Amino acid sequence: MQNPFFNDGSGRNLGDIKLINRAVIFRTIREAGAISRSELAKVSGLNPATVTHIARELTSLGLIEEAGITESKGGRPSTLLKIRSQAGYIIAVHLDRYFMRAMITDLNLEERIFSEIYATQTDKTSQINIENLLNIIDELVQKSKVNERELVGIGICAPGPLNVKEGVLLSPPNFPGWPSTPIRKIIEDRFHLPTFLEQDANASATAEKLFGQMREADNFIFLLADGGLGGGVMIGGEIYHGEECTAGEIGHTTVDMNGPQCSCGNYGCLELYASPRSVRRYVLDQMEQGRQAETLMMIVKGDSKQVSFKTIVEAAEANDPLCLEGIERMRNALAAGITNLVNIFDPEAIVVGGEIEFAEKLLYDHLVNAIKTRTLSGYKKPVQLYFSEMGQDVQIIGAFSLVLRELFQNPSMLRK
Ligand SMILES: [Zn+2]
Repeated sequence: MQNPFFNDGSGRNLGDIKLINRAVIFRTIREAGAISRSELAKVSGLNPATVTHIARELTSLGLIEEAGITESKGGRPSTLLKIRSQAGYIIAVHLDRYFMRAMITDLNLEERIFSEIYATQTDKTSQINIENLLNIIDELVQKSKVNERELVGIGICAPGPLNVKEGVLLSPPNFPGWPSTPIRKIIEDRFHLPTFLEQDANASATAEKLFGQMREADNFIFLLADGGLGGGVMIGGEIYHGEECTAGEIGHTTVDMNGPQCSCGNYGCLELYASPRSVRRYVLDQMEQGRQAETLMMIVKGDSKQVSFKTIVEAAEANDPLCLEGIERMRNALAAGITNLVNIFDPEAIVVGGEIEFAEKLLYDHLVNAIKTRTLSGYKKPVQLYFSEMGQDVQIIGAFSLVLRELFQNPSMLRK
């Protein structure tokens, strides 16, 4: 079925696209803060009668409400509409290999309350387990003092591979605490709320489509680079999952057939060279072999445990040769990976996000140049490259987006 929320951002006037129009109107109101019906018609491209009809529908569903009257210049005063932020609350969970973070928020993403836990040692992921997750959600609901009846649903994003349809985490590499966990069922049984699971890069792509720079784009790829390197592939406005929900695993494509073994079992995978964590590992390995990184050591005050991708980027920007080498290695591998993605999918744009954002200044020109000079798209306008503007929140906003997208298809999720 065509997903009504994923469309080209402009409204239409045909009878069978009610849900698309609902989404367009909701989003336009949300972006404006408060807006009159006539302005809504202008911005959305829908005719005034359709706008009035949908506004009435959304009001009766409890999603929007009137917000006073505006004095228009010379014209008649008109009533403003706004999102009814109290209409419901969504719980979003970002499950990572090394931490989990949960957020409870209103539909406007304005009131946001977070809870989070981290593994104390970066290699001990098993201490983040399903019990922790249930507790963190419990704690969040208590902290927020939101009435349980106001909760709309729970969105979870996690590293792949996972089965989106069944809501099961499979056995993600470096993720030993979660073998074949039916996470959706466990959470639904405990909280009695509709729950949605999606791979982190796909959830990030959904966030970009709903709230980010990709609202007008139907074909794009979100390249999520932090612990690993994953791709959320949006084709025709829909996430492309593939046969077994493992599509887009760009990090596990081979760039060196004789390279070192990857956690996935294969050899020479792209993420061994291009993920922020691989840069950290490379710099630390080189230091163990006796190479110096004086600027980096000054930044971390001599404590190599404090070396992170962010501090390596800082040192590289101050011309630390070893850190620059690590970034260059990443840059070349990423350029190859992005070239491959563009040649396979012919997207309108690539959006890059996750921990990689710290290196935007060091990477951007090089990656744009790779797209210009190395892809097959030379005959048309070059594929655009963006760094996500949502920073480290992109995954959790993605998890939130999974529920909001569903809400537009099934407004009955709101328990009035
Ligand atoms: Zn691999």
